[in-house]
Amino acid sequence: MKKKACVRECPICKSREKVIRKGFYERESDRKKIQKYYCKSCDKSFSEQTFSYDYRLRKRHLNQIIFKLLCKSVSQRGIAQILNIKQEMIALRIKRYGLKAREHLEKTRSTEDLSEVEVANFRGERRRLPCPRLVVAAGGLESNRILLWLQERRGFLRGGAQEALGRGFMDHPCLEAGWVETEDAYNFQKTFNTQIRSGRKYSVRLSAPEKWMQEGGRLNVSAGFLMKGKEGTFDPYAEYRNFRSLWRHPGRIGETVSSLAATAGALVRDGFVYKRGLVPTFGVMCEQEALPGSRITLGREKDRFGVPRLSLHWEISPRTWQTVVKFCRLVKGEVERLGYGKVNLRREIMEEIADGRELLTDVNHHMGGTVMGTDPERSVVDENLKVHRIKNLWVASSSVFPSSSHSNPTLTLLALVHRLSEHGLEQANR
Ligand SMILES: Cc1cc2nc3c(=O)[nH]c(=O)nc-3n(C[C@H](O)[C@H](O)[C@H](O)COP(=O)(O)OP(=O)(O)OC[C@H]3O[C@@H](n4cnc5c(N)ncnc54)[C@H](O)[C@@H]3O)c2cc1C
Repeated sequence: MKKKACVRECPICKSREKVIRKGFYERESDRKKIQKYYCKSCDKSFSEQTFSYDYRLRKRHLNQIIFKLLCKSVSQRGIAQILNIKQEMIALRIKRYGLKAREHLEKTRSTEDLSEVEVANFRGERRRLPCPRLVVAAGGLESNRILLWLQERRGFLRGGAQEALGRGFMDHPCLEAGWVETEDAYNFQKTFNTQIRSGRKYSVRLSAPEKWMQEGGRLNVSAGFLMKGKEGTFDPYAEYRNFRSLWRHPGRIGETVSSLAATAGALVRDGFVYKRGLVPTFGVMCEQEALPGSRITLGREKDRFGVPRLSLHWEISPRTWQTVVKFCRLVKGEVERLGYGKVNLRREIMEEIADGRELLTDVNHHMGGTVMGTDPERSVVDENLKVHRIKNLWVASSSVFPSSSHSNPTLTLLALVHRLSEHGLEQANR
């Protein structure tokens, strides 16, 4: 099996590209599984523990107690007596705590701020404006472009964070996977078509069970049925919504009265949208695994403001395709078992071809590139959406998502932005 490249830097030769994961070992003190790494460049092995402040410290279980006693101003000699250990062990720990604290401060301290921004309009006017705080909220792609451009001009991100910028771009890969033959279209649509409840409209989606995902190491995925007609087929629901348009096609009135009545009847009686004569198509929407190679960069071409246009390399993992295939087959099995009809899946799914990634399409859900995280070496913004190391710059966009789930991003984004506007900026002022 091909070893997965990882982002840990080799502590010996500082290589990042040539480091691979190489199993685990069980730490004796707490039986925790620790990730091991191997650097192909310098032929050395190391582990997650190498980066820990207590690397090679004996009696790890005392670390927390010693730390707490020091915080309570117990002397080194006092701690040594209480714990029946040598005083040097405490001195050594104080040094390590100090180094760790310094490293953390250097990583997280906001060292810079933006003092002004330049804005331009389509009339060619440019202005420099003072900038006490800047929230970049220009959509999933454009927010990336603005930060990439800022990085190119100002180099505000350092180390791993500049590597992280633009990486991990995601959308929700989709596939029209097949269609359903059913003898009872009314019952099928009653179960799977849009439902109206208390004046609200709900789409029915089938989500993958958590256990199924975990067991197979699969991603999050969902499916839905869309009632489609052949091109030009009259859609009673569309006509119902736009009732006035009926009168623009007087020839259709007679033809549609009964189907319109059926749609209205289903709405009143059973609270769902019935579309007579349409065929249910089966669509799947999948979580996309965040890959470093799925990436947004600045292209060579520039726009009229002199800012480089984006170049996007959208990369989907084989695991994403495999999840789609397995899920389609799962849904087919269940729908048929429950007697709703026969699900005809497209050939690539039925034959379980190994790689059908080129069949997947996007749905304009742009995510990733300025991902959120606590480690400034691996992320661009912190948990409050503030760009690491910059005092007054935030990103309010789905570009901060580190993972994508299987479906619509906007509500999650709104929740994040609401939190930022209510608390985040306020805290920054303190
Ligand atoms: C066809 C389509 C269907 C979608 N359907 C769904 C759906 O059903 N459910 C769902 O959850 N999501 C859906 N999405 C995604 C959803 O639109 C986005 O998640 C959401 O709009 C993101 O909000 P935003 O504020 O980050 O970006 P946007 O809504 O894109 O707003 C960005 C704003 O910034 C402005 N702007 C851009 N560049 C600059 C610049 N350089 N300077 C100044 N201003 C700038 C833009 O004019 C725009 O007003 C859909 C998207 C599309 C395109």
